[in-house]
Amino acid sequence: MIPRRALLASLAALAVPAAAAAPAKVVASFSVLADMVREIGGDEVSVTSLVPPDGDAHTYEPRPSDLRAIQGAKLVVTNGLGLDAWMDRLIDSAAGGATRVVASAEVSPRRMSEGGRQVVDPHAWQDPRNGVLYARAITEGLIRAAPDRAERIRGQGARYAAAIGETDAWIERTLAPVPPDKRKPLIPGLKALMARHTGDAAWQRKSGAST
Ligand SMILES: [Zn+2]
Repeated sequence: MIPRRALLASLAALAVPAAAAAPAKVVASFSVLADMVREIGGDEVSVTSLVPPDGDAHTYEPRPSDLRAIQGAKLVVTNGLGLDAWMDRLIDSAAGGATRVVASAEVSPRRMSEGGRQVVDPHAWQDPRNGVLYARAITEGLIRAAPDRAERIRGQGARYAAAIGETDAWIERTLAPVPPDKRKPLIPGLKALMARHTGDAAWQRKSGAST
């Protein structure tokens, strides 16, 4: 027969894993947003990015498994500004109970010329000052979706936003001695990325760099 004290001790040991709740499920439209959720949520969240690494967030066609992922999520994160409009339709179809965050909600969008028309540049996160606004929106959304983990999420979110701010300040300091008309990015991939998406990314305005 098992001594009563030993039995109680083993019951207590069994109770420990049950007390540690599973990570909160979060679905993000694409990898930039998923990375931000991971940085802020840490171990408190498990993140799914719907657009695969070789996919295009502008023209993505959702799969049935994406609908199921949203139905099982506590939080859904979209970019907004028309970049991932397919996600709005998907969330409506899912009719789930997930909290929703539009990461660009507090951003003043920048306008750009495209084919002779004035359009909103949806790639707002490329300006680090907007990156901070994204981080804050995601932090608040995570706290609403998982209030039992608010303290850790708030701390991690504040650290992440501060890190983006420090990077922005570093860019300013580093480029300060170079006159704006002499600034040119030397990384071909960055140049291609900027040309592919906008030809005139928000980062360009921020840094004064030319392509
Ligand atoms: Zn794009």
